[in-house]
Amino acid sequence: MNLNRRDFFRVAGIAAATPLLDRSVDAAGEESPGESLGCLVDLTRCIGCRKCEQACSAVQRLPAPERSFDDLLVLERPRRMSSRTYTVVNRVHTGVVDEHGRPVPTFIKLQCMHCLDPACVSACPVGALTRKENGAVHYNASRCIGCRYCMVSCPFQVPCYEYEDPLTPRVRKCTFCFEQRLVEGKVPGCIGVCPVEALTFGPRSQLLEAARRRIQEDPGRYIQHIYGEKEVGGTGWLYLSGVSFDRLGLQKLPERPMPKLPETIQHGLYSFLWAPIVLFGALGGIMKLTERKARGGAAGEREEGAES
Ligand code: SF4
Ligand code: SF4
Ligand code: SF4
Repeated sequence: MNLNRRDFFRVAGIAAATPLLDRSVDAAGEESPGESLGCLVDLTRCIGCRKCEQACSAVQRLPAPERSFDDLLVLERPRRMSSRTYTVVNRVHTGVVDEHGRPVPTFIKLQCMHCLDPACVSACPVGALTRKENGAVHYNASRCIGCRYCMVSCPFQVPCYEYEDPLTPRVRKCTFCFEQRLVEGKVPGCIGVCPVEALTFGPRSQLLEAARRRIQEDPGRYIQHIYGEKEVGGTGWLYLSGVSFDRLGLQKLPERPMPKLPETIQHGLYSFLWAPIVLFGALGGIMKLTERKARGGAAGEREEGAES
């Protein structure tokens, strides 16, 4: 679904988002300097229709799922992202009931959070993951060596590996539709289709303002917490909820960015690797010397034999 400028404002619902479409992204995927983009997920609006999952699958040309996107029975058990599914919607019962005592579930859409200071980017030793200026955390399969450090380092357990592909397995995750939509100034696939505007796209600072405004205007509806504002240094995808996030499976995380940990491990590893490198270098030198000596000795013996 291509959104024109007017459609974008309807989806975004943020009047001040004008700079978004005025910014261009060049063919190399490097955006002209501008503000980081994001998405505000309002869990109090989500109805668990899975239209976002379906749109993601279509935009990203993912294999068709075993059960159709109309089949809401899949919501009966929690799901995780996979190499074939970049976003999932889960239904969570938190004990909230309506006036008739019937349980009122919360639906939560999960995908890569597009962290401002991404642990996966820091952990990747070959620069296969990079954070673009527009906020998308991008994966380049041609650089990837399959070490899967990104999977271990991600605080949200997002990246998945194509174990099913023995020849050219790749790491898979939500791309923020960087290549498919953002570079053309279009709204990511999942966001554009949400029928209840549970997903709002725009510059992150304006999404934060919108989130604060919603909390202020309807304090009974929301808890006083914007998930992703500060967690692990901030994320591009932000969440509003009526119940605490840990009850929805979004864990409590420190405000400090996680990259410090993998960086420390990597630096430790690299410094540890110096010892074998020096050792191999020394062994190589000794072997060369021994070889030269042996050759010199053999030549001397030949010369002696020729003289006698
Ligand atoms: S959520 Fe995980 S995979 Fe996504 S940007 Fe953050 S660290 Fe990387
Ligand atoms: S932003 Fe794009 S890749 Fe990410 S979940 Fe939405 S549709 Fe899928
Ligand atoms: S399309 Fe919107 S309402 Fe439907 S599941 Fe996704 S986020 Fe929720």
